[in-house]
Amino acid sequence: MAEYQTFEHDVLVIGAGGAGLRAAIEASAAGVSVGLVCKSLLGKAHTVMAEGGIAAALANVDERDNWKVHFADTMRGGQYVNNWRMAELHAKEAPARVRELEAWGAVFDRTPDGRILQRNFGGHKYPRLAHVGDRTGLEMIRTLQDHGVHQGIDVHMEITVVALLKEGDRVVGAFAYDRERGRFRVFKAKAIVLATGGIGRAYRITSNSWEYTGDGHSLGYHAGAELIDMEFVQFHPTGMVWPPSVEGILVTEGVRGEGGVLKNSLDKRFMFDDIPDNYKSQTADNEEEGWRYTQGDKNARRPPELLTRDHVSRAIVREVKEGRGSPHGGVYLDISWIKKKLSNSEDHIKRKLPSMYHQFQQLADIDITQQPMEVGPTTHYVMGGIRVDADSQMSGVPGLFAAGECAAGINGANRLGGNSLSDLLVFGKRAGEYAAQFARDISQGQIDNAQLEAAARRALEPFERGMGSDAEGPYKIQLDLQEMMQELVGIVRREDEMQRALEGIGRLWQRTSRVAVTGNREYNPGWHTALDLPNLLTVSEAVTRSAIERKESRGAQFREDYPEKDPEFGKVNIAVKRDSDGTMKVLRVPIPEMPPELKQVIEEMG
Ligand SMILES: Cc1cc2nc3c(=O)[nH]c(=O)nc-3n(C[C@H](O)[C@H](O)[C@H](O)COP(=O)(O)OP(=O)(O)OC[C@H]3O[C@@H](n4cnc5c(N)ncnc54)[C@H](O)[C@@H]3O)c2cc1C
Repeated sequence: MAEYQTFEHDVLVIGAGGAGLRAAIEASAAGVSVGLVCKSLLGKAHTVMAEGGIAAALANVDERDNWKVHFADTMRGGQYVNNWRMAELHAKEAPARVRELEAWGAVFDRTPDGRILQRNFGGHKYPRLAHVGDRTGLEMIRTLQDHGVHQGIDVHMEITVVALLKEGDRVVGAFAYDRERGRFRVFKAKAIVLATGGIGRAYRITSNSWEYTGDGHSLGYHAGAELIDMEFVQFHPTGMVWPPSVEGILVTEGVRGEGGVLKNSLDKRFMFDDIPDNYKSQTADNEEEGWRYTQGDKNARRPPELLTRDHVSRAIVREVKEGRGSPHGGVYLDISWIKKKLSNSEDHIKRKLPSMYHQFQQLADIDITQQPMEVGPTTHYVMGGIRVDADSQMSGVPGLFAAGECAAGINGANRLGGNSLSDLLVFGKRAGEYAAQFARDISQGQIDNAQLEAAARRALEPFERGMGSDAEGPYKIQLDLQEMMQELVGIVRREDEMQRALEGIGRLWQRTSRVAVTGNREYNPGWHTALDLPNLLTVSEAVTRSAIERKESRGAQFREDYPEKDPEFGKVNIAVKRDSDGTMKVLRVPIPEMPPELKQVIEEMG
């Protein structure tokens, strides 16, 4: 048997974004030994890209805000298939987590009297997003990293976990390779927290970075955990559409929060045409009122551009399909128009949206203080993920926890902007706390050599196949998958197309079993991509099967063949689980009855 470099920790956290760092900090503070593993360098996780802010009912800008309003907004946004207990904990605990971040050194934008400033965002009734210009994620990561490194956490950078190791039902470790030298590593742990982020790289047009290949979703699934809500993939309405090399890069909702408007090629603000009934009472019915809202007028209602992301994305798709799009297949997002309202608009835009200003200047040669941007939907976030207990974040597999984007429940059918960063803090902390508790009560498990050897063999197969006649490289398979998911399981879905996608996924599994790479194991991106493929295929299959099963339109899932909401589907989550024969089983899991006091909150908040 081969000898692998082995590390031992009480708690192993896989992923060093906001959720992983917060979990590691908490577990370490509880006095257990903690290992933190990440694919890239510490501080480079996806969280760093977050722009708009952290949602928390601090009530610094509008005193009417409180946890109840935040809870009701989150449930309405999620179309009531959220895990209500998670939504409750999140709304109640987010303010304390943001203040804690401030105490650890995060520099937030400020109100004139020195409190944390909060901005408007889609689906939030009041200004709620604590932010640092449009670079909030950077500040969050920097603060958590600074705090964490002083706590004695062992950080393992540029390490990719490819399998979880089990003893009976329980997880006892992880098998990984280091990207630099291609050597294998074994991690022994009493408890493991998955915090690996999302799945955006399963689609061609995405705001997500190369790291988002659904690894944690897939690791959890293959270890026996259930994935829920996978049909709910969030397409953010505003990604860049031009030039092609930057297609999909995010244009923050903060642009609309600061007064930016969406227009079609007829110069019409089309969002006023289609305001859903359940948002009518909260939405402005004229442009002037919408503008006043963005400027803090508490008597004004939000402009329709700040409706939930699923709705805005579909409205953009409709405009483009019906021939009213911009030259490169999007619509116009215009913030420059505010010069009619503000004398210092140019400076104001540069101060409030510095990254957006530079992004468009440098990547598209557009000055957003003078010209409109061209934007269209981009795959952004997955509401679905590992099913966890709301309080402890433990999955159905003993010792396996999950937090952040790779866990599911809080968002239901659609996530409100800003609710992810607060989710990472609230549930990252909880996962760390409960993982430490679990680890304290149990001894290290036994690592099974057969599992190690099988994982090593699988990982090395692409080298051993050689470039024979039926072998192929990994990149074309990845691209074919991304194009197929974009086209057949995208913003607008139909059963026949998704069945075709399932057949396509089957063929891509076949091709993946013949994938071959050349070269050696040191920094070999072809090899890394080959190892990402099974994860991408697993999550794509989960998305497709779940989307077929939910025969209705709700939140991020729009079915052309079932365009209405079906109350029966409002009572269930769709889950997938690995069956004993290795196939993916689809289940309808009833949503527990909401307690009367939470029902009352929703009724009161309208
Ligand atoms: C451009 C952009 C802007 C956004 N803006 C906002 C915003 O303003 N507000 C908001 O609330 N949300 C925002 N979001 C969403 C939010 O940023 C993410 O949902 C969130 O950061 C996810 O955090 P995480 O900790 O779950 O994962 P991440 O921050 O992605 O961290 C994942 C970690 O897991 C590691 N990893 C992955 N796979 C493996 C593996 N196999 N082995 C080892 N390590 C692994 C990665 O290296 C990384 O360290 C934005 C997203 C994008 C893309």
